[in-house]
Amino acid sequence: MPGTKISQRIRTLKLARDCAALGARIRTIHHLTGLRPRELLYLLFNAHAQPPCGRAPNSREWYHNANLLQRIEASVVIANFRRMRFLGFPAPEALVGAYRYYQSMHRPPPRISFDRAFDLAAHTEGLWIAKVPSFRLASCARCGSEFLDALGGTDTTARPCPFCQLVDRHARDPRLTASFAEQPPVSEDLIAHLMPVPGSHTEANGETPSTSPSLPAAET
Ligand SMILES: [Zn+2]
Repeated sequence: MPGTKISQRIRTLKLARDCAALGARIRTIHHLTGLRPRELLYLLFNAHAQPPCGRAPNSREWYHNANLLQRIEASVVIANFRRMRFLGFPAPEALVGAYRYYQSMHRPPPRISFDRAFDLAAHTEGLWIAKVPSFRLASCARCGSEFLDALGGTDTTARPCPFCQLVDRHARDPRLTASFAEQPPVSEDLIAHLMPVPGSHTEANGETPSTSPSLPAAET
């Protein structure tokens, strides 16, 4: 019964439950599902399971002070979010899928919360809480990875690729060596995961990347 009211309702409730399971604030779930905050509180939480509280993330402020590992993990989330969008997933499902994938790739605790991922995705596509994009995915000419970059003012120079920075700094920085005892995570695996989707954007030199996406096709 796809497209019927009951199917839409089930999809919305499932999405709300998935978001709550990933640690989302009520405000975030409200923006993603359209359900009223009071209803979400009633449906998803009780005396034993309280929603997260505190100030919601502001990524435009955060990004400029984020450390290398935070920028890498933010790039992983948003690169996969954009890939799923390109494959045809609606934005809320793409965000949940990309965040689950990110969680499966990184040791807990995650440096990027689901609320942060929501805020970054919103400000990359100009969705939900953002009228216009303030981030973009840039493509590194050296390693081929996509990384999150701020769109800002008159300064259009891209920040250095955090994946290349990690490779360069891994042997010299004891904090990074402790985080990644063996090989740095910029392995061929990770780079393959982050390979750009054809047509999703254009590289700085004007060429379109040629790598194929590896995620499954969107469900209808
Ligand atoms: Zn790079």
